[in-house]
Amino acid sequence: MDRYKLPDLPYDYNALEPHISGQIMELHHGKHHAAYVKNANSTLQQLEEARENEDFARLAALEHALAFNLSGHILHSIFWKNLMPKGGDMPTGDFLAAIERDFKGFNRFRRQLTEVASSIMGSGWAALVWEPIGKRLLITQIYDHQSNLAQAGVPLMVIDAWEHAYYLQYQNRKMDFFEAVWNVWNWEDIAVRYASALELDIDVGKAA
Ligand code: FE
Repeated sequence: MDRYKLPDLPYDYNALEPHISGQIMELHHGKHHAAYVKNANSTLQQLEEARENEDFARLAALEHALAFNLSGHILHSIFWKNLMPKGGDMPTGDFLAAIERDFKGFNRFRRQLTEVASSIMGSGWAALVWEPIGKRLLITQIYDHQSNLAQAGVPLMVIDAWEHAYYLQYQNRKMDFFEAVWNVWNWEDIAVRYASALELDIDVGKAA
């Protein structure tokens, strides 16, 4: 049984135009994201078979494949929901106040997130993360889909900085893509994720 499923997009493939082309969205969701889902499920299956056969020779490769593909599935699932047609503008309320507290203003937050996305070497993501131990927002640069993230950080808002996210439309002008995405943020979705993350009670030093 497949554990993970490709979620439907909450809008049509061309709904984010002109900022993100329908062709990019169709390939990105229908091919790239779908492959991460398929490979996460097949890696879980291979791990199950390895346990049954007590054959652990390929364990390191399988663990790496699972972290890569499952993280790819999770980040893309968040990214689609983070976006909406006619989005953009600014967040409001408690979420905006938290951004202003932790980044010293919305414009500095926007600048930092955009710069983190554009300065990734190779493939990766920029993410706004709730860090539940220090109880603060952080911006994180993620390598591939799974590395360089502080443990326990909860991604709230993510920007895909892989070339497949922009190249068909923006070619080497990736900064134009990282600016364009600010026209299609679904701030309500991101604020709901923030409110949910605040409810997490994680104390890594606490005994059970
Ligand atoms: Fe992607």
